[in-house]
Amino acid sequence: MKIISSIHEMQVEAEHIRLSGKRIGVVPTMGYLHRGHTSLIEMARKQSDVVVTTIFVNPTQFGPGEDFDRYPRDLDRDRVLAEDAGTDYLFTPSTAEMYPAGFATFVTVEGVSEILEGKFRPTHFRGVTTVVMKLLLITKPHIAVFGQKDAQQAFILRKMVRELNVDTEIIVAPIVREHDGLALSSRNVYLSQDERRRATSLYQSLQLASARIQSGDRSVDSLRKEIMNLLKAAQPLQVDYVAFVDPTSFREVDLVAPPQVLALLAVRFGATRLIDNMLISVP
Ligand code: AMP
Repeated sequence: MKIISSIHEMQVEAEHIRLSGKRIGVVPTMGYLHRGHTSLIEMARKQSDVVVTTIFVNPTQFGPGEDFDRYPRDLDRDRVLAEDAGTDYLFTPSTAEMYPAGFATFVTVEGVSEILEGKFRPTHFRGVTTVVMKLLLITKPHIAVFGQKDAQQAFILRKMVRELNVDTEIIVAPIVREHDGLALSSRNVYLSQDERRRATSLYQSLQLASARIQSGDRSVDSLRKEIMNLLKAAQPLQVDYVAFVDPTSFREVDLVAPPQVLALLAVRFGATRLIDNMLISVP
């Protein structure tokens, strides 16, 4: 595995790979890799000839007062995990080169970036779409793999790539969970032992929603009430949202309808904000 931190060097390397006729797959991450990330690398491995994993804790997607400074970082460990999962190039740019003084160009997907996650993190998706666009222009991939864990992000990136005619196929990989259902996240290390136990209520809520929908409940009001009861029993600091959207439009629905609905949650335990979601078949 080759480690590159210069933008120019990465672009030259990517150009050579493309000219040799090989397919490039990129996996953008903020590092502190876990099995969720390595599942994306393995998927990229299967669908391309050369896998580029990027590690960059992107300051523009963190709001003021968020966890940018304390976001977990461990490049030595990431190197091993990325290589073992099948990475050929590890791209680790510096903040100074990604965002030189005076940087003023941003990519925004309007509308859908302002709801749900966007309501609680107003500049978050602008940071995500900007950095992903930069990473796509630097690594020139045929495919880019993202996780369903960040469902709204995946929807927004697909829309960006389609609307800006970016020649990269976006692939979305399933959520990887712990044995008790908690979705893997670099932020799970923030949880105390007790918070970690209570955090299983997110997955339990999604399972409850799915069970209720299978047995005929169609009302989002009633589903939300049941979920709130379950979540409240786990004593979160705050439930930011419990939402049901049409996965094709990301519009919130009042009544769930076939064929599928996407249930999304954001819940805070202490200083840690967790998100999770489940694509539920509606009979
Ligand atoms: P992050 O490093 O948190 O920015 O995540 C990098 C990529 O990994 C994003 O596309 C995430 O959606 C994806 N990801 C994070 N956690 C998981 C998980 N538990 N399962 C699958 N993909 C994940």
